[in-house]
Amino acid sequence: MTQNDLLASGRLLPVMEEFYSLQGEGFHTGEAAWFIRIGGCDVGCTWCDIKESWNANLFPPVETDRVVEKALECRANAVIVTGGEPLLYNLDYLCDKLKGRGSRVEGRDNLYKVYEIPNPKSQAPNPKSKLKPLSRITDHGSRIADTSSTFDPRPSTLIKTFLETSGSQPLSGIWDWICLSPKRDWPPRAEFYKISHELKVIIQEEEDFKWAEEQAGAMNDDTHLFLQPEWSRREEMLPKIIQYIESHPVWRLSLQAHKYIGIP
Ligand code: SF4
Repeated sequence: MTQNDLLASGRLLPVMEEFYSLQGEGFHTGEAAWFIRIGGCDVGCTWCDIKESWNANLFPPVETDRVVEKALECRANAVIVTGGEPLLYNLDYLCDKLKGRGSRVEGRDNLYKVYEIPNPKSQAPNPKSKLKPLSRITDHGSRIADTSSTFDPRPSTLIKTFLETSGSQPLSGIWDWICLSPKRDWPPRAEFYKISHELKVIIQEEEDFKWAEEQAGAMNDDTHLFLQPEWSRREEMLPKIIQYIESHPVWRLSLQAHKYIGIP
């Protein structure tokens, strides 16, 4: 297969960075997660705080299998795939590998697939686990013993997959949580209004409140709604957002907490 074939199938991805941190935004704020930031974005927000992600050519494609191994070696229960715009790439292979074997069920309106989240009690460390042979995931998604590596045999079905997207590209992948952050200059594809769990609207100027309401009106009723100040204008916009939420309490405040506390 050529490199383009491998990229198209999702077996290679132009990963910009991978790191362990706490989610700083939205519904899962404060939750430990392994972040996979994929390079490339075609939206081009003027206020983007990660412009260095835009040019995917700066990030040589890496094997998705290796990306998954690193994610599964981390203690985090969640993997957050972000960008750039990660849906510029086929994320089916990445998510299938992150999930490994599992009980697949159809999700909302059968538009995307989710996995059952196991009972948290089942996540307790198995005292006998160190006696088991190490294992790895094969190309066919099953685990086999692998005594040649130090790969953690923790069941990958425990991993929750979270997606951060502008909704500008068709959905791929298997997601436990989709955070839609729509952009005025490139509105999301219609399907994202019905499949996203969370709407996060960046407020840069007062007109964005109207845009936020329009977007919220298109979402499912049970979608979690967040307003987040654009970082460079936070001092001016934060008081306005607080005032807006006080008068429109269906919304909640999202802060980029990671920036306030100085973590990635
Ligand atoms: S969609 Fe996200 S990564 Fe792309 S330009 Fe906008 S803020 Fe930046």
